Amino acid sequence: CRCSLPCLLRLVSAPDKWTHANGDCGGKSQSPINVVTRKTLPDARLTPFDFNNYQQIFRGTIKNNGHSVQVGVPHLSTVSGGGLPTTYKAVQFHLHWGDNGGPGSEHTIDGEQYPMELHIVHMKHHYTDLTTALSDPEGVAVLGFFYERSNSANRKYEPIINALRSIKTTNGNTSLPPVSLAQLIPAQQNLTSYYRYKGSLTTPGCTEAVVWTLFENPIPLSTEQLRTFSELKFHDGKPMVGTFRPVQPLNGRQVYRSGGAAVLASTTVLVAAVAVALGLSRPN
Ligand SMILES: [Zn+2]
Repeated sequence: CRCSLPCLLRLVSAPDKWTHANGDCGGKSQSPINVVTRKTLPDARLTPFDFNNYQQIFRGTIKNNGHSVQVGVPHLSTVSGGGLPTTYKAVQFHLHWGDNGGPGSEHTIDGEQYPMELHIVHMKHHYTDLTTALSDPEGVAVLGFFYERSNSANRKYEPIINALRSIKTTNGNTSLPPVSLAQLIPAQQNLTSYYRYKGSLTTPGCTEAVVWTLFENPIPLSTEQLRTFSELKFHDGKPMVGTFRPVQPLNGRQVYRSGGAAVLASTTVLVAAVAVALGLSRPN
């Protein structure tokens, strides 16, 4: 990287300038993107995921790293299926948000920006560090979850929200009460609808080594809970708000959606029902 540390820090708060900091940020397969749902292709290979040890309770450390909050995860939780080429293990999770609960997700769906987005970063199971995984074009799998505003607080998020008060400044960190990845995401049966495309990290060096999954079903948080994230501070003492990279050009990439087989199956049922209604199934 040709940029000094203060320069890099400035760049982190100016995502449109990242191209100059690192060649990959100006690449052709960048993230995030806007998903245009009518242009997505149903893919029967995008079956439900197998989540392993997502229920595992762990004691993590939550850290203000100057541009987000991040929690390291013991590499015990794995994910496979879901059209992934192999098993991936969880490494860390972090979030992207807006200003006081305003628009803040990185990915958008038909132009809609959600208030926050969770990224659970995984790497292929045989790698031991992210740097190595990032040299493999499919080395990293990120599971992305959107948040939506709800009228009541999400109690499963209290450990995270409460910890934010202790990590307001850069490099602030504190230990989390025991949590599991499963408690932070929707129930497994609500994770069968998702989008898939090939992209990049959304922070420098923007490495194009990420198999992206974006789940349709959002996680509810109250406005109050969402607002707590805006109390964090960047390295320069300014409020840590708008921690998302703007959407990047697709450059001809195809976005797939799960449920190809299910769509076919329901079409078959519909055709059969119509046939019965028309009396076509009883010829005489
Ligand atoms: Zn992210």
